[in-house]
Amino acid sequence: MTDTGVVLTDIRKSFGSLEVIHGIDLTIAEGSFVVFVGPSGCGKSTLLRMIAGLEDVTDGEIDIKGRNVTDLDPSDRGIAMVFQSYALYPHMSVRENLAFGLKMAHTETAKIESRVKAASAILKIDHLFDRRPGQLSGGQRQRVAIGRAIVREPDVFLFDEPLSNLDAELRVSMRIEIARLHRELGNTMIYVTHDQTEAMTLADMIVVLRDGRVEQTGSPREVYENPANTFVAGFIGSPRMNLLNAEWVGDGSIRIGANRITSSMGAQKLSPGDKLTLGVRPEHLSVSTNSEGTLHAKVDFYEYLGGTQFLYCQLEDGQSVIAEYRSPVAINAGDIVYLSSEINQRRYFDAAGQRLFTPWPILPSHR
Ligand code: ADP
Ligand code: MG
Repeated sequence: MTDTGVVLTDIRKSFGSLEVIHGIDLTIAEGSFVVFVGPSGCGKSTLLRMIAGLEDVTDGEIDIKGRNVTDLDPSDRGIAMVFQSYALYPHMSVRENLAFGLKMAHTETAKIESRVKAASAILKIDHLFDRRPGQLSGGQRQRVAIGRAIVREPDVFLFDEPLSNLDAELRVSMRIEIARLHRELGNTMIYVTHDQTEAMTLADMIVVLRDGRVEQTGSPREVYENPANTFVAGFIGSPRMNLLNAEWVGDGSIRIGANRITSSMGAQKLSPGDKLTLGVRPEHLSVSTNSEGTLHAKVDFYEYLGGTQFLYCQLEDGQSVIAEYRSPVAINAGDIVYLSSEINQRRYFDAAGQRLFTPWPILPSHR
């Protein structure tokens, strides 16, 4: 066991007779920014609330900085949590909201003063001191909520979907601020979101959850480049990775409908006729309007975004595929296109959705 960071050992949680977290092991390095991401209901908040001590664990152990905190009160764990709902006291001013927790802990007045001052300087909320939460915008409220966590000087910050109540533009700017905050403070941060873009942009390590289990952990590049299974492949990235039903023909090739694609992989565990899934990202499909390309497709419709165009296509066997197309020459609905991909941009998954073959190497400098 490490004596720093946060370590979860076989964590389980049941509500009544229903188990919702099924034995999670996780080591979070001191000072890292870890994001739990997954669809609604997969157990992100429950896991975070167990780390915070707001929810008992049914089984397992939680260590923070080498200390077993499994049965400690939230206030004794060295954590501070920021919620989606801000959870500010409506009848108190910003200054009082920031100072309240410290006052309750009988911190000296001078110390409270200096911490509140330091936190508000970092978050640029000094000019809002005398307002009440009702007189603040959503972004300002969330800043105060983060400030209230900072003044406690916790070892670990816990964030539960802190940006989900903000509009799209504010979400982006607050995201950048939270990244900056992590750089400045250097604390361990654990951040929960259902938004894969937030996960990709903020995390040192992403933990992808589904139905109370960890599907994959890794750097943003690792989960993007080498998804462990079709769930992660489909969840990380927007638009999602194309996942095409295919069949192993033998002789190093696969069949998708009437199209044959030569693969770089050896047969290893496959026999001719075995079903598999070919994964290829929209940006890794090159689009041609003359017959250079292996997959024939018809463009159903497209989204034009200025710098790029997403083509929503249908293969001859009816499967859908999205291709990103960057060219000044417009492609229209109804056009026939030919799609091809480079061998090293294809990923293969077995019939159960698990990655076939070893991951592609990611250079240390690209992590
Ligand atoms: P997420 O934050 O990923 O959306 P949650 O952790 O809130 O998911 O919920 C995980 C699962 O646990 C869900 O199926 C949810 O219905 C269930 N759950 C959460 N809290 C409770 C509770 N207090 N009582 C019963 N079931 C709960
Ligand atoms: Mg939640």
